[in-house]
Amino acid sequence: STTSDKLGFAIVGLGKFATEQIMPNFKACKHARLAALVSGSPDKAQKLAAQYELPETSVYSYDNFDSIKDNPDVDIVYIILPNSMHAEFTIRAAQAGKHVLCEKPMATSVEDCEKMIAACQQADRKLMIAYRAHFEPFNLDAMARIRKGELGKIKAITSDHGRPVKPTEDQADAWRVVKKLAGGGSLMDIGIYALNAARYLSGEEPVEITAQEFSDKSDPRFAEVEDNIHFTLRFPSGVLASCTSSYSYSEVKRGRVFGDKAWLDLDPLSDYKKHTMKIGDDEGNQEPEIEEGNQFAAELDHMAECVLHNKTPKTPGEEGLKDVRYIMAIYEAAKTGKAVKV
Ligand code: NDP
Repeated sequence: STTSDKLGFAIVGLGKFATEQIMPNFKACKHARLAALVSGSPDKAQKLAAQYELPETSVYSYDNFDSIKDNPDVDIVYIILPNSMHAEFTIRAAQAGKHVLCEKPMATSVEDCEKMIAACQQADRKLMIAYRAHFEPFNLDAMARIRKGELGKIKAITSDHGRPVKPTEDQADAWRVVKKLAGGGSLMDIGIYALNAARYLSGEEPVEITAQEFSDKSDPRFAEVEDNIHFTLRFPSGVLASCTSSYSYSEVKRGRVFGDKAWLDLDPLSDYKKHTMKIGDDEGNQEPEIEEGNQFAAELDHMAECVLHNKTPKTPGEEGLKDVRYIMAIYEAAKTGKAVKV
């Protein structure tokens, strides 16, 4: 297809995820193309603009970003900045007349999420939160099997997300241990995958949350943000989800759903590629054959199609807001030691 069939995306924040995972995947998209870059690092931005054959006039700084409203080549702005900056740039993008795709976590407070939703509503622009698992074939397949009753009645879910955060070795981790930029620790960054998975796998919204946090405060990485946080979500049907989130585990990103007929494992559940699914019951285990898909291209195309056909995204601002509300409840439960009704 030609570029004119596709909607133009401006990427805001040219960090690790933007440059390594998102930008290279536009070439696999049917309805999305890269159209502009917004960055605080002019040299890096110029280099990437040249590499992706974008004109110099399509490179913006954070200061002149608002002038993107005069660029008809940009339909959608994709925010890939540190968490606490998502709100400001979503609101500015909507006010510049652009639709917004924003990374998870949507923001670092419920109030910011509400402002983002309001700004996009006022400007009549779409707002989608980039929950890529909702576009990933193994996760979609798991949801379909669960809804069809293949596991029987769902009793429980467990999900663990952890990795060692390395702020002194990895530039992308430096802001993750600064509360003002990250909003919180492992929960905001990766525990959110467990939280979101518990919701889309159960197909329910939690009613009560309990949590415990444990972080070594003498470790400089955890002076401002949490390391380990374990939380339990109780759903209306009685399903309990037990989740763990950590910035010091060796890497893990898995989930398991326990039904009264069978269990289903996704390990990893939320990787960039190479997912696996296992289903087990009294008879033994099986690994269904599922084809890996390009979750990034599927997500970008979905955003573009929502704009093209005036549809509500599968993961709108309201979905991001829900998780941020639950995250705040998890922090409150951990702090008070009491169950929090949500
Ligand atoms: P990086 O630090 O690699 O990228 C963030 C970029 O934001 C920087 O490169 C920089 O770009 C810009 N920036 C502007 N102000 C600051 C600041 N004060 N400190 C640091 N960076 C700043 O982080 P990631 O790419 O890992 O994460 C960015 C966002 O993407 C986060 O919200 C994260 O949660 C999300 N993410 C989502 C993933 C997913 O799978 N969905 C995976 C990884 C991250 P520039 O130099 O161009 O200004």
